[in-house]
Formats: sequence, C-alpha cells, structure tokens
Amino acid sequence: MILSATMAMIICIANQKGGVGKTTTAINLSAALAVSEKRILLIDCDPQGNATTGLGISKTDLPANIYHGLIGRNSATELVRDTEIPALKVIPAKEELIGFEIEMVDNPHRETVLKELVADVTDRFDYIVLDCPPSLSLLTVNALTASDVLLVPLQCEFYALEGLGQLLNTMKRIQKHFNPALRLMGILLTMYDKRTNLSRQVAEEATRYFQDRVFRTAIPRSVRLSEAPSHGKPILLYDAGCAGALGYFDLAREILLGT
Ligand code: ATP
Ligand code: MG
Repeated sequence: MILSATMAMIICIANQKGGVGKTTTAINLSAALAVSEKRILLIDCDPQGNATTGLGISKTDLPANIYHGLIGRNSATELVRDTEIPALKVIPAKEELIGFEIEMVDNPHRETVLKELVADVTDRFDYIVLDCPPSLSLLTVNALTASDVLLVPLQCEFYALEGLGQLLNTMKRIQKHFNPALRLMGILLTMYDKRTNLSRQVAEEATRYFQDRVFRTAIPRSVRLSEAPSHGKPILLYDAGCAGALGYFDLAREILLGT
C-alpha cells in the first residue's frame, strides 16, 4: 500500500486474549517506527492505561485523556502528549474509560466516535497505533472501525490460536458494516522461545492457517522487555541492544518495507 503524503496509516493492535503482548507491541513498535524518522501517535484505548504508564506518563496529573475525546469534550489535538522520543506522541487513557460503553448506550453513532475523533490528526502523523483492551467490547469495535489494518499479537503458548476465529469474525462484521477497507496486516508471534517445541508448534500452526500473513519477525521472550514499562520507557531507551529491542526494530523494518 502506498501511503499518501498526508494521511496516517492506522494500525489496530488487538486480541481479546489478555496478556499476549498487545501493549508491549504498541509501545515498542511505535518507538521503533518513531526513530525511523516516522511521526507516530499511539492512542491508548484500554482503561488499564498500560501504554500510558509504559511511556512514562503519570495518570494522576492528566488534565484529559482519550475518554474525554470519545465523549466529545476534547478534540484529539488537545489530548496529544509528548514522550521522551520527540517523534512519538501519545493520547493517554485511564480507568474512567470504562464508562465509555455506558455513555454511548443511546448514541446511534457509537461505533464511529473514535474514527471521527482521529480524523482531526491523521494528517500530522505517518502511523497511528491503537492499543486495544483484552475484549471485543465497544472500544475494540471503535478501534477496528477507525483502522486501516489489524495487527494481532499471538503469544507462543498452548491454546494461542483459540479465540482467533472470534476476532476474525468481529473483523468481518466491522468490514461489512463500518469499515470495508479494513484488512489483516499480520499475525505477530510474541514471547517466542526458539528452544521450546511449543513455540515452534505455535509458529507452524499459525503459518498453516495464515501463511504469509504471519510476520517473518517473531518477538523473542525477553526479560528486558518486561522490565522496561516499570521504568516508563520503551525498550530502545532502556536496553536498545537486547534481543527484544532488536525484535521490534525488525518488525518496524518489515512494516516499513511492506506498507
Ligand atoms: P492486556 O491484555 O492485559 O492488555 P497485553 O496483551 O497488552 O495485556 P502486555 O501487557 O504487552 O500484554 O504483556 C503481558 C505481560 O507479558 C507483561 O508483563 C509484559 O511485560 C510481558 N511481555 C510482553 N511481551 C514480552 C516478551 N516478548 N518477553 C517477555 N515478556 C513479555
Ligand atoms: Mg495491554
């Protein structure tokens, strides 16, 4: 796909399974793209706010967050915050985002509020990355409706592929009703351990189902990756030489060459 000079490509990172590496991927892919001279906006769409704290933003002294954009109180421009990496900006989230679903009950356009919010800033970025919560709730539906492509992290563990059918059905439903241009960018193997049979089996099984839709890059299991968020830093500011950092650089390169 050729990127128009003025419109960001919007990448939705989703998997309703918890703890598979969505946020780790959102933060570190965004950072790796940002140091490749791309302008990146990461939007935290998860009430847990892990991408927010993982980028060193304190949730306690935030004047506004994505929730206030979704309910129409703030524009996206007003919500954008700086991070330690100049080309990487973030729209934060915190617990009150849980209220979004209830707030939207009577709104006939409830599936498209994020898309409308983001339209305000698409010309200022090359990529916009959306970090979804571990559910197929209205927030994930909004993220899929606003996106060009879906990136699915798949943890290399038993039952990894279970539930993927449900996610892909949701994607089809969104394509049919709200966003016909949405496509599957790829399946990303995370916490890959090349020494274990299980990791290899998950990789083989994923490749059997999704063929070339599985990214060539697999993100290795890396203790450094799991430590970085507690320091409020993407991996490339915490330990740029570790295997996890190199994994996300490789993924960024694969995406830059392929899009
Ligand atoms: P949730 O569904 O709760 O939003 P998630 O899918 O966003 O979770 P993460 O928060 O990215 O998943 O990762 C879950 C846990 O696994 C975290 O503690 C994270 O630090 C760790 N982790 C993620 N990727 C790796 C990796 N490649 N190597 C080691 N640990 C990892
Ligand atoms: Mg997360």
